Amino acid sequence: MLQRLKHDFHLLMITLVGLIASCTLLPYALYRIATASYLVGIVDLLMIAVSTASVWMAWRTGDTEKPGFLMASVFCFGAVLVCMKLGQDVLFWIYPLMVFIFFLVAPIKALLLLLLMVCAIVSLHFSEHSTIFSTNFQLLAFITTTLVTSIFAYIFAYRTHLQRQELRRLATTDPLTGAATRHSLTDELSSAIEQYQHKAVVSGLMLLDLDHFKRINDNFGHHAGDQILSQLVPLLKQMIRQQDSVFRYGGEEFVLLIKDIQLADLHRLAEKIRHAVWHQLALPDGSALTTSIGIATVQHAHDWESWLQSADVALYQAKHNGRNQVVIAATAAQ
Ligand code: GH3
Ligand code: MG
Ligand code: MG
Repeated sequence: MLQRLKHDFHLLMITLVGLIASCTLLPYALYRIATASYLVGIVDLLMIAVSTASVWMAWRTGDTEKPGFLMASVFCFGAVLVCMKLGQDVLFWIYPLMVFIFFLVAPIKALLLLLLMVCAIVSLHFSEHSTIFSTNFQLLAFITTTLVTSIFAYIFAYRTHLQRQELRRLATTDPLTGAATRHSLTDELSSAIEQYQHKAVVSGLMLLDLDHFKRINDNFGHHAGDQILSQLVPLLKQMIRQQDSVFRYGGEEFVLLIKDIQLADLHRLAEKIRHAVWHQLALPDGSALTTSIGIATVQHAHDWESWLQSADVALYQAKHNGRNQVVIAATAAQ
């Protein structure tokens, strides 16, 4: 549970906002009902119920977008209703609410929701018997301060959003080759195993290691080795589909995860890749570069480690048999 909160910032925020909102609203809801202010009491209870349901939905489905939006919309709607009933007394609550909304939904959605909420509160002022603002000066101050708060909160939330995206990209993309890093490999392999167990979708894995790479570095320099690695990944990406992925597993070792494929097709694809490396990439002196590949389909994997392990044994066999070849894992060939 703590692990999930640590890795999913949005889930953490929804849980935190849900908890804080429920704890702060509950005494108010009880007080309003006890003092016969039923509409406000019911709105408070509705906000608590929606917060609890949204947090539950987010934990259960792993989707934080819809529960976040639901919570944010109900909070804004509830704030308008409570302002209508209680007037000035609740205006100060609008400001922490504005900050909460930016934790629940994407910055632009938060800004639009808040602008709608402010417009609704301001238009209520012009309805008959309104007690929200006692003077036009107060109304103007409310419009100005809520606009300034929304805009600055938006700028801050947007910049944070961009920085989080950049951090994720840096953590999941290998800077030299553009392949995915090992960071997301285990999750992707585990999800392919789950897909097989629940929906019988067979995926395949290739473990690819360039032959005699040390020699290439020794003969042509480390920079030439780097250049070959950076040419290899675009070539691999060209040969797989959008749904498949390439991970840099180690120095010159790559994992390809091929979704929804049977062993015979996986073998054909691995042979095509081996040929492409052999004939389309070359060393600085024009000589050929070769690769050895171990392949395994998901059927016999208990977990991601055993799946990788069987491809690794096959790769070792390919090296042992003289390199520049594809070997099917013994378990997959059964
Ligand atoms: P084998 O055919 O058995 O795989 O022989 P090999 O020489 O390729 O052996 P091994 O896979 O053990 O060696 C990998 C070499 O790759 C060692 C290291 O110097 C080199 N290497 C690892 N990462 C990089 C990198 O980012 N750039 C360059 N240029 N070389 C790297
Ligand atoms: Mg090698
Ligand atoms: Mg290696």
